[in-house]
Amino acid sequence: MSGMYLNIEEIRKDFPILKQEVYGKPLVYLDNAATTQKPLPVIRKIEEVYSTINANIHRGVHRLSQLATESHEEARKTVQEYINAASSNEIIFTRGATESINLIASSFCKSQCRPGDEIILTTMEHHANIVPWQLQEDNTGIKIQVVPVTEKGEIHLEDIEELISSKTRLISLTHISNVLGTINPVSDVIKLAHNYNIPVLLDAAQSVQHIPIDVQSLNCDFLAFSSHKMYGPTGIGILYGKEQWLEKLPPYQGGGEMIAHVSFQKTTFNELPFKFEAGTPDYVGSTALAEAIHYINNIGLSSINQYEKHLLDYATRKLSLIDGMQIIGTSEHKSSVISFLVGGIHPYDMGMLLDRLGIAVRTGHHCAQPLMEVFGIEGTLRASFAFYNTEEEIDILVAGIEKVAKMLS
Ligand code: PMP
Repeated sequence: MSGMYLNIEEIRKDFPILKQEVYGKPLVYLDNAATTQKPLPVIRKIEEVYSTINANIHRGVHRLSQLATESHEEARKTVQEYINAASSNEIIFTRGATESINLIASSFCKSQCRPGDEIILTTMEHHANIVPWQLQEDNTGIKIQVVPVTEKGEIHLEDIEELISSKTRLISLTHISNVLGTINPVSDVIKLAHNYNIPVLLDAAQSVQHIPIDVQSLNCDFLAFSSHKMYGPTGIGILYGKEQWLEKLPPYQGGGEMIAHVSFQKTTFNELPFKFEAGTPDYVGSTALAEAIHYINNIGLSSINQYEKHLLDYATRKLSLIDGMQIIGTSEHKSSVISFLVGGIHPYDMGMLLDRLGIAVRTGHHCAQPLMEVFGIEGTLRASFAFYNTEEEIDILVAGIEKVAKMLS
């Protein structure tokens, strides 16, 4: 048992998919930054909702609708507590981190920006935190400014400060890079931005499952994340926004639920959080996400963080011993994500052959092409660890890489 801090053997029993074999080999799932596997309580919760209380929520007077509504709103409170938001009005259910960022890009630029105003991003952003702003360059005439990334894969506060001008309206950056694993100094970035009265959006898609987040002490203005990367179901995510900001921003989509009254003369909008939740919400997804949060809380996020850090250190040490190993992203402040290249081997070839050994890693540009360009590469292999991974699995990865490297050289 390689879990120094957690009972990994017991934990793994909760994840049925991990018992599988692929190509006759035990599955070694190391693609957790792309999506995490689901524990039985989450899987069972989905079945339970559909089997017992399924009914469209909010508008129903009947019993099932009331129960489903309660379950959905209880889930909102669970999310609120998880990130310590001041009010459940600040928790908006979306389809995921991507939609959360699109919502802010659209509503914020439309209402708060004039042509020529600037939004600051970093070079290490996922495309989900680049392209929505580029769409706004066309729609509202904003300009994007980009913070450079160092060779180690870090950003410097001085570089951000240099880009801040009287035209800067918002800074949007990732908390943890999905490629480099770098944990950005977001608290310092937020303090710096607030000195200039500039709000900050944090892309927490890669952090909310690894490190405790307290939006009130961080003091971020917006925060976006996805359920499926935190052991919850796909297709649902969260936008957190400070209430005073969300009150100010216009709706993102129109439809049922988000209105107070509709007439062809004048339509008025519902209050928060419903103003941003047009259409039937994913009340099954929200309930199952809450179950995932309970699951994380039962293990304890600080124990998870400690154990994953141990896995990161172990993997970094072992991988570094491989001939021709190049790790991309060498910050001292890293989460359990390792991007790497081996000799001149194309990541896709290595990834395909590792797959044949039952090892699931991701290959490619990881939706971060501007970052790839900075490093002068087309892509990498990426191993990303969750609390159910083990040292033994890292040993299998290392042996697999060595075997494949020998075959291909
Ligand atoms: N931001 C980051 C840093 C990510 O890693 C991802 C997912 N790879 C996203 C945003 C987008 O998340 P989703 O596809 O779940 O909306």
